[in-house]
Amino acid sequence: MDHFLYRDGVLHAEDVPVAEIAAAVGTPFYVYSSATLLRHFGLFEEALDGLEHTICFAMKSLSNQAILRLLAQRGAGMDVVSEGEYRRAKAAGVPGERIVFSGVGKTRAEMRTALEGGIRQFNVESEPELRALSEVASAMGAVAPITIRVNPDVDAKTHAKIATGKSENKFGIPIAKAREVYAEAAALPGIEVVGIDVHIGSQLTQLEPFEAAYRKVADLTEALRSDGHDIRRLDLGGGLGIPYTRSNEAPPLPLDYGALIKRTVGHLGCEVEIEPGRLISGNAGLMVSRVIYIKEGEGRNFLILDGAMNDLIRPAMYEAHHDIVPVIEPETGVEQVPFDIVGPVCETGDTFAKGWHMPPVKEGDLVAFRSAGAYGAVMASEYNSRPLIPEVLVQDDQFAVIRPRPTFDEMIARDTIPEWL
Ligand SMILES: *Cc1c(COP(=O)(O)O)cnc(C)c1O
Repeated sequence: MDHFLYRDGVLHAEDVPVAEIAAAVGTPFYVYSSATLLRHFGLFEEALDGLEHTICFAMKSLSNQAILRLLAQRGAGMDVVSEGEYRRAKAAGVPGERIVFSGVGKTRAEMRTALEGGIRQFNVESEPELRALSEVASAMGAVAPITIRVNPDVDAKTHAKIATGKSENKFGIPIAKAREVYAEAAALPGIEVVGIDVHIGSQLTQLEPFEAAYRKVADLTEALRSDGHDIRRLDLGGGLGIPYTRSNEAPPLPLDYGALIKRTVGHLGCEVEIEPGRLISGNAGLMVSRVIYIKEGEGRNFLILDGAMNDLIRPAMYEAHHDIVPVIEPETGVEQVPFDIVGPVCETGDTFAKGWHMPPVKEGDLVAFRSAGAYGAVMASEYNSRPLIPEVLVQDDQFAVIRPRPTFDEMIARDTIPEWL
């Protein structure tokens, strides 16, 4: 459920008409609903009720500091994957003790920054990384709390580009090798083993892959404890999918996911961490765009928008679908017509949908892409020298620009021309 509904004939973000935001900030733009973000966060809180737990929002899905502040005020931690994210989380007021650091390519500089600023744990993904972290921490006279990310060789049954839990993926260490690597970790200076980490992919629409992975983690917990390791924390990753279209089969509910966690690892007495991104942010955002032209092609009509693949790359990158709806509510019973919905970028890949049936719209109308909160703004670029689009946060009847649109001059002024030219 989200808080983007038609009211008085206009799509609203909570109590704010989307058209009013468009008039204030221009198009295209992203708009997020605080109530939806908090609702989704609350669903996980509820799902894990009774277990000692921390919900670390995967901020790579949506990293604006206003969003981080909103969630952190409710007690969220953050899952970061780069120094930039770490610093952004800190700048938003998230304490280091609530930040976990994931990613296969952490540099020594990134490790140092996190150790200096405070960190809940590093989720270590390889032996070379483990040794580097030991060196960095020892040299600082610090101790790095770690989990090791294990790759359970489970098929997440999701898009190949966002599956991470098969042995052919670059993530984690093979679970069969885990005992050996934990033994090495325990012997290294500057390292303190606190638990196990697993994350098998994103946009999972079934619970079975989680179940298979978490059972393996439970077995490993017992094996490692019998080897003498004090395994007290399990980071179970993120990845729960969301419905991208109304006609979709409904993905599993957080409550059922929570029950699965309790069933598979609840008996171990560990503190549980999860790292949801998309389920918190995905349906909490829209991208709003304006129709520039309607072009009649052969056997098809193109809706040419002012938003493009550089603003929302998921369709081009993952063949992802977003429902696209008019901002002015269509009259009931109006006949839907097929459009190929495209942006102005000079690539055929700049296609959001083909043959998408929607109520007739005309030049100048506003349309909204649903479920654009996750992996939308964060993956945007300035391709075709299109400035990054603004982000707006709504709460009840208020809205605020949380990242302004840069001017063309600001964008252009970032280049520097060498003096020899
Ligand atoms: C991307 C990622 C997540 C979040 O995935 P979602 O599908 O957005 O929930 C969590 N943990 C790690 C390590 C990730 O790389």
